[in-house]
Amino acid sequence: MPLRLYNTLGRTTEVFTPRKPGEAGFYGCGPTVYNFAHIGNLRAYVTHDILTRVLRDRGYQVNHVMNITDVGHLSGDNDLGEDKMVKSAAERGKSVLEIAEFYTNAFFNDTNRMNIIRPTVVCKATEHINEMIALIKRIEDNAYTYTAGGNLYFDISRFPRYGDLAQLRMDDLKAGARTDLDKNKRNPGDFVLWFTKSKFENQALVWDSPWGRGYPGWHIECSAMSIKYLGEQFDIHAGGIDHVPIHHTNEIAQSEGATGKTPWVRYWVHNEFLVLDRGKMSKSSGGFLTLQSLVDKGYDPLDYRYFLIGGHYRSQLQFSWDSLESARNSRKSLLEKFRSLADKTNPVEPTDLAGLADAAAASPAVKTRLTAFNEALDDDLSTPRALAELWGLLKDTTINPREALGGALQMDRILALGLEKALEKTETPQEKARNEDPALAAEIEGLIAQRREAKAKRDFTRADAIRAELDQRGIILEDTKTGTVWRFKQNIDLPTPL
Ligand code: AMP
Ligand code: ZN
Repeated sequence: MPLRLYNTLGRTTEVFTPRKPGEAGFYGCGPTVYNFAHIGNLRAYVTHDILTRVLRDRGYQVNHVMNITDVGHLSGDNDLGEDKMVKSAAERGKSVLEIAEFYTNAFFNDTNRMNIIRPTVVCKATEHINEMIALIKRIEDNAYTYTAGGNLYFDISRFPRYGDLAQLRMDDLKAGARTDLDKNKRNPGDFVLWFTKSKFENQALVWDSPWGRGYPGWHIECSAMSIKYLGEQFDIHAGGIDHVPIHHTNEIAQSEGATGKTPWVRYWVHNEFLVLDRGKMSKSSGGFLTLQSLVDKGYDPLDYRYFLIGGHYRSQLQFSWDSLESARNSRKSLLEKFRSLADKTNPVEPTDLAGLADAAAASPAVKTRLTAFNEALDDDLSTPRALAELWGLLKDTTINPREALGGALQMDRILALGLEKALEKTETPQEKARNEDPALAAEIEGLIAQRREAKAKRDFTRADAIRAELDQRGIILEDTKTGTVWRFKQNIDLPTPL
């Protein structure tokens, strides 16, 4: 069966058929870089990562574009509240650009640690103001706009398909409760394309435009940048479920309003939320968990990845420390299982990966497992089932270890739980010291040999003196069944030469 994705537009699961055979154009809404990403945001990027990896694995050349919002995102998605970037910069006594740079780097540090592949194109809003202005002009030329209070608004009443994605009814939108306090709006659903003086007096970043000196609304950046890098119509657009009723609805209205081409995007993929046991997680409400806060408690970023892919991206996932702990234990067992298979076969060197892949390819039993694994992912990216298939493969005692290892590594090209790293031999402290300073290690081992001889001759005074001498120089000896092992005491990088 081919890859099928649940399409929010139409609310059905559909076979993925790209516009151009063999290529997939994919835009995923990126972070607003006014703070660290919280672990809920990272759920969205893991979803995008799985999707990209599956598309690549199915042979598509994927152009994955992600924006960095460094201007224009107000605390309410519907033009309400304060500018997130400006507020954060003021609180921290930094410039908006400093804040953006710091949190952009922090974001990629998090995504790297979670094995999330960097998108093909990463584009900053502040570097695409001309594209936004050009797109707004097209929307204006097509008579979808009006000016009020110095701002340029999109008039949703002129766009009959407005709300199709979210299945909103135009009548309801017009009659909707007036929670929106922007008195300039003719309709509560209208939204700003370009702000001028009306909203904030001391806006840090402003640009000249046909509508006055000001800055863009938040939604227009995604339309402008996705069109620039993926064309006027493209395959997939993804983001969190919260974006359906406002952000993505507005993106569609703007893009189709400008180009006149419909559908702008063929498949809309939305991940459900990660929620805390005590309720919704949000960046602006303060108390949120970052990846680093999990690391500080001793979790590996990939434990969190394991936790996330244990749920289907379209189901709400509840975060708790207990469930993260059980994800950590499961990943630990997975790695142990994998290593134990590696120990059963000839020494597996990381360079032997091609050999393992060949072994897997020649095995009908592995092929059956891989087929089930791929079918799970083709079925709207069912990572929980795919993960179960990986476990099934590793536990299948009828499959020889080399074949199982090869099959598991192939599965991990998508799940990315760090199996390949587990193949790397970990150095003992003794091996590490030998590699770092062979001459010193040889001297130490010479003394250890003398101690062994002294003990054999029952000259315990001499044996103890050697141990004491080594101890003084920061070397600890441990007598084991297979011989004496040694290591440097902690915090002593280089002992004084013997
Ligand atoms: P933001 O940086 O706030 O623009 O959000 C970045 C991405 O994270 C968007 O795709 C949001 O829809 C998504 N997102 C926000 N909160 C959560 C959450 N609690 N769970 C899953 N995704 C979320
Ligand atoms: Zn967006």
